[in-house]
Amino acid sequence: MIRNIVRLRESVREAALRCGRNPEAIQVVLVTKAVSCERILEAYEAGFREFAENRVQEFEEKRKRLPEDIKWHMIGHLQINKVKDLIGKTVLIHSLDRLELASEIQKQAEKKGLAAVDCLIQVNSTGEPTKHGLRPDAVEDFAAQMRQPAIRFRGLMTIGPLTEDGEKIRQSFRSVRFLRERLNARFPDIDWGILSMGMSGDYQIAIEEGATLVRIGSAVFGPRG
Ligand SMILES: *Cc1c(COP(=O)(O)O)cnc(C)c1O
Repeated sequence: MIRNIVRLRESVREAALRCGRNPEAIQVVLVTKAVSCERILEAYEAGFREFAENRVQEFEEKRKRLPEDIKWHMIGHLQINKVKDLIGKTVLIHSLDRLELASEIQKQAEKKGLAAVDCLIQVNSTGEPTKHGLRPDAVEDFAAQMRQPAIRFRGLMTIGPLTEDGEKIRQSFRSVRFLRERLNARFPDIDWGILSMGMSGDYQIAIEEGATLVRIGSAVFGPRG
């Protein structure tokens, strides 16, 4: 695993330098779904502090057993009834994709006295019906309709298409970057700085297309059982 981490850091750095970006501007979040606490601790010892889970229950179980200075990200589809167990425990929710979810986050934030919950809008940039997220052409309206003061938009998240075709993957990431530019223009008071895109199979393309955060699981922890 340590070898994977070294390789990952080097390859993130190379991808950034290849397109004239500062490697420091790319945040690597390790995806720990189906990974044991022992192995998460190994990555922690190697210096990682940002980890991501996709299910609230698994997240809760691990969070209790792991160091408190870990910064947790939620990257999975969120059910309304799970929000109460999540709020206040994450640095970033990547999967905001509907108004109903926003209003539940608002409600739970108020209960816990939280002024702001950092969220990314999840965009379905590939049109695949099995994927969650808003259609790209629905994102501006979604942002305009948002009336929940505790929701703090920080940017966009997307999952690239399941294909070997690098050009298709690139187009999908690029379209999300362009969408972010439109949001910047229309909502200049909001900081849309984060572009969460790229996983083990496609993070180099994502970095070339402007990702500021990559979500890496199997490239570090190996295939999930
Ligand atoms: C599982 C998962 C990842 C990590 O996938 P790998 O291919 O193992 O790197 C990234 N993002 C989301 C939303 C995931 O569910």
